[in-house]
Amino acid sequence: MSKYNITLIPGDGIGPEISDAAKRCVDALGLDITWEVMEAGQGAIEKYNTPLPRRTLDSIRKNKVALKGPITTPVGGGFRSVNVELRKALDLYACLRPCRTYKGVRSRYENIDLVIVRENTEDLYAGIEFEKGLKDTKVLIAMLEKLSAKSIRADSAISIKPISSEGAKRIVKFAFEYALKNNRKKVTAVHKANIMKYTDGLFLEAAREIAEYYEGRILFEDRIVDNMCMQLVQKPEDYDVLVLPNLYGDIISDLAAGLIGGLGVAPGANIGEEAAVFEPTHGSAPQYKGMNKANPAAILLSSVLMLKYLGEEKRALKLEKAIASVIEEGKSVTYDLKKDRNDPAAVGTREMADAIIRKIK
Ligand code: NAD
Repeated sequence: MSKYNITLIPGDGIGPEISDAAKRCVDALGLDITWEVMEAGQGAIEKYNTPLPRRTLDSIRKNKVALKGPITTPVGGGFRSVNVELRKALDLYACLRPCRTYKGVRSRYENIDLVIVRENTEDLYAGIEFEKGLKDTKVLIAMLEKLSAKSIRADSAISIKPISSEGAKRIVKFAFEYALKNNRKKVTAVHKANIMKYTDGLFLEAAREIAEYYEGRILFEDRIVDNMCMQLVQKPEDYDVLVLPNLYGDIISDLAAGLIGGLGVAPGANIGEEAAVFEPTHGSAPQYKGMNKANPAAILLSSVLMLKYLGEEKRALKLEKAIASVIEEGKSVTYDLKKDRNDPAAVGTREMADAIIRKIK
């Protein structure tokens, strides 16, 4: 039996190419891994009539760890987002997005080293929405007007924002535990509690309560989300680990990815008590499908997170160093990491992975 069984979901669009690159680089570290390749996304719809087949979920439940390529979400009707379904089905409540600058990546900033911890299951993303004009929406509006003594326009659509004490506490605890394990100094809770006194107020209250337990070990502060955006643009070096409810977390994750030079180098992980799914922040870039053009760095850095999660610190560091060194040299990198995106010397996905493997060996 292998030391590790890992579910590999190549996904669609550029997913299969970058997943293959990640698998080859991780295998080059000499770990004893059995990869269970599972389908999700476009290919799965054609074969199983669902973008997230039961057997894929069962494989993650069994192995507890998955590496996943991006999956296209069809706009409008049809199937729901596989990514949202996965997070819900496995209760992957923490979305972890470390954002650090690597030398050689074009960015307006240097020395960024931020970690975004986003709550993944609640807030306005809970999917409780009421469409304009429907009977239920009218009933809800009438009830809300009665209960709140405030008027709501009849042609409104309504989205509900649930934030629970349990949900807030477990995500803040996750952020502090991450900070402790990774020698970070400070956790900043981000909210809009001055306006949303009950939902964001509860998040802040939960954060303060959890922070007390870590007093003397990890610093704690809070910021209002709009101010946080300005501060991150003006002095990102003042921040360390940020913990946020779902919607602010989604937005600030992209802001932080922008600070480090874009989605091409932004890794991610969705972690719960029972399982963890590691995936790049970027999407399936369908226009580059099958062209051996996409940058594999984000899924490779997600693999680094996965190795750390498995307790393989040394190998994680080795892989991260190899990726960083190839990017810094700037020779065997994909088009988007070249100074000039039309540089004919840019290499393909496969060749960039080969260069990383040569550094590992
Ligand atoms: P995208 O991230 O796929 O692309 C945004 C831009 O970045 C494009 O110009 C693309 O070419 C470029 N890009 C992205 N990844 C790259 C890489 N590895 N190398 C080089 N260039 C890269 O975002 P989008 O176009 O908004 O979304 C495309 C599809 O992906 C949508 O269906 C969306 O729902 C889905 N998506 C999936 C996930 C996921 O599976 N976790 C995340 C985000 C978006």
